[in-house]
Amino acid sequence: MISANNFKTGDILDDYADFRFVECVFCKCQYIHDFELCTLFYDPNDLERSFSTLFGCDEDKNYPLPCRKCKRTEWDFTDIDNDERENVLKGEWGWAI
Ligand SMILES: [Zn+2]
Repeated sequence: MISANNFKTGDILDDYADFRFVECVFCKCQYIHDFELCTLFYDPNDLERSFSTLFGCDEDKNYPLPCRKCKRTEWDFTDIDNDERENVLKGEWGWAI
């Protein structure tokens, strides 16, 4: 996994956050996920666009927004391995590494 150490949301809860780079399992589109607060940051140009990745047991496990790149409505994400660090640096979220 790759930590997003320079990522800041301006939220006072940042001290408790654990930001990591993740990617869509289908198209490798990159996102930042806060593993502590279970929030996915969706858009590198608009940090207000985020949503909770916690679901109740009676809820559908569908994210409120489709993947930015492959547009799938049923998608999921996974940690990005450290050996893909170069790709993250060159990507949209490179500023946050
Ligand atoms: Zn995707």
